[in-house]
Amino acid sequence: MTEANHENCCPLSAVDRRLQDAHRCWHDAERGYFDPEDFRVAIQAAIQTLRTVTFILQNNKRLFTNFDPWYELWQGRLRADPLMCWMVNARNKIEKQGDLEMHSFVRTEILASYYEEGPRMEVPATLFQCPAQLIANIPTEALRNHIFKDGILRIQRRWVENSLPDYELLDAAGIAYGKLAELVADAHKELGLQPPSTMHCDIDRTKGSDQRGGRLPCMIGHGDTRTLNVWLATGQRMEIEQKVVNFDRECAEQALEKYGLDPKEMYPTTDSTAEATLNSLFATAQKMFSVDCCHATIAFLLKGSYPVNMMQLDLQEHGEKYLVMRMLANEVIKCDADGVILVSEYWKACYDPNNPYRRAAEASDRQEYLGATLVTKTGDPVHLCAQIVRTGDDVTIGNTHMLRNQAQIAFAPIYAAWGREVPHAWIEVTKINDQCG
Ligand SMILES: [Zn+2]
Ligand SMILES: [Zn+2]
Repeated sequence: MTEANHENCCPLSAVDRRLQDAHRCWHDAERGYFDPEDFRVAIQAAIQTLRTVTFILQNNKRLFTNFDPWYELWQGRLRADPLMCWMVNARNKIEKQGDLEMHSFVRTEILASYYEEGPRMEVPATLFQCPAQLIANIPTEALRNHIFKDGILRIQRRWVENSLPDYELLDAAGIAYGKLAELVADAHKELGLQPPSTMHCDIDRTKGSDQRGGRLPCMIGHGDTRTLNVWLATGQRMEIEQKVVNFDRECAEQALEKYGLDPKEMYPTTDSTAEATLNSLFATAQKMFSVDCCHATIAFLLKGSYPVNMMQLDLQEHGEKYLVMRMLANEVIKCDADGVILVSEYWKACYDPNNPYRRAAEASDRQEYLGATLVTKTGDPVHLCAQIVRTGDDVTIGNTHMLRNQAQIAFAPIYAAWGREVPHAWIEVTKINDQCG
């Protein structure tokens, strides 16, 4: 059902509209992020508007056959949530006392791995100087060298309220929006109605909202757009290029002919598991490799066995992968994907204990591989690889090997996005060996 249709015939349309208003205020705050006055007005309006969603719902209780027990359950759940309680108090403060006490901070952190372990500090925006203090906290020489070579300094502007120090305010409003969107969706269900949908460019943006805690995709990873990423090695600002591969029939047909591919083989229909998709995508990658002698890094986001999104990742430097895998994790949440396949060429080398942070690409005994890794929301990782041997202009691909349940540390941000704990074994591997990335 389109938004307009829903609004015309939904008995809860007053509630739906108020939720949409809150979404609009949220974007106003996002747009006004760097203007303190604009931000103050819009974020406070978002908090006030969110609060009225439940008031309007309560005013419509006559539509329900048994409103009270249903609503009490929700009320209990929302009251038990510290963030939602903060929202209620914040709204009371705004309406009865005055403005929230908001402060603009700059968060600086160093990314030099796939885990959220880098040194991090928050300083008032006006005091921000240089990252020297952060770097001084890095324990060992080897790690310091690694960080200087591959590390990224992330600098992010954040609005924080005095009484809610652990949250960035826009994020907090997004999470609260999600909880109330879930309540509104459940109210529709209680009345036997379709929940409202938020359409954008003809795509229903409400799909997959369970996974996002009711939030809309625009509320995920919004901080990335106001983050400055700087290479520690050069001090240069880093621009990440993300190519969404759009399907173009003509190009696709040319490609099928060039590589001798059969589309029926690429996405199997008879054996519909994510692993079957992995097998056929890897077979396709090998065919393409034998024509081109190289292969781009491509991520396929899956829903079940079927790819729902495909992205070419341009990875020039090792450290970029730390950021790109975090961005990929945001895409996973946005698309509600439950599987990811990453196809790429990579180097492999033996671990050198004297040089623990050496990249495989820099080792003299390095070997070249074509690989494809599947990670899923519930299963163990599956990795397919085949060695590439180059002799002069000749390139051959060896037999395919399958490795199950290896430590796929690069996928740690995606596990985190799924709410899966990163296996202990992965963290152990990182401690002794940083070569797999
Ligand atoms: Zn509705
Ligand atoms: Zn939006």
